[in-house]
Amino acid sequence: MRTSAARDRLPRGAVLDPGAGCVLPFTQLSMWVPARQLVSRLRQPRSRAEERGDVARRLRAEARASAAPPEERRLAARLRACREAMAGILADVRSCASCATGCVYPHGAFAGGACCGTETHRVFSDEEVAALAAGGTRPRHLTVPAGEHAGCAFRGPSGCSLRAADRPNACIRYVCYELSRELYAAGRLEEVENLAETIQRAFEDLSALREARRERQWLADIHPALAEPAPDGKR
Ligand code: SF4
Ligand code: SF4
Repeated sequence: MRTSAARDRLPRGAVLDPGAGCVLPFTQLSMWVPARQLVSRLRQPRSRAEERGDVARRLRAEARASAAPPEERRLAARLRACREAMAGILADVRSCASCATGCVYPHGAFAGGACCGTETHRVFSDEEVAALAAGGTRPRHLTVPAGEHAGCAFRGPSGCSLRAADRPNACIRYVCYELSRELYAAGRLEEVENLAETIQRAFEDLSALREARRERQWLADIHPALAEPAPDGKR
């Protein structure tokens, strides 16, 4: 699915981690849930329930640990808006609905969303969960799809069951070679690359702010005086 040759030609801003990607368009296919799927959801595979439960637990812990300060919340809100914007741009692409045909399991379990055949914890890293929590995603937003659990817990036969705003940034900014070719042909690749880069930069800034805050908190816990800013503003 992702050969090294294809990897070399990935557009700027693409996620190179083979487990970390996903596909907006594929995930855009359906958020509407027929009644029969509700029954199916009551019979979720245990593995999916456990992986969803792990993300929910970490989201809850992030939201509880400390309310993110305003600067972090502003960045998280910007990321949320960027994720929605990217989903809008990619809403009509075709590649994502059929790219997994013929791929090895679990990628090939469904026709599309090959890059969603990853492990849930790889896309929902601690930094991603923190960014989602600061942006307002809560456990109740973690809707799961019906059917087989093949890869990420939120991957289903018709795409990602999460709203774009509630997906990790790595999923949203990922563009594989096949998709980049389609976007190039449609004259939209540059627009997508620029937005992917914006998302990546904002995510790195947010992660750095959070890390610095956690370090200050850690210092304050072990020795309150060390966490005090120096008179010249430096630590
Ligand atoms: S076409 Fe590429 S980006 Fe889209 S779902 Fe398939 S592997 Fe992911
Ligand atoms: S959350 Fe999972 S299913 Fe959704 S886009 Fe990301 S990897 Fe794919």
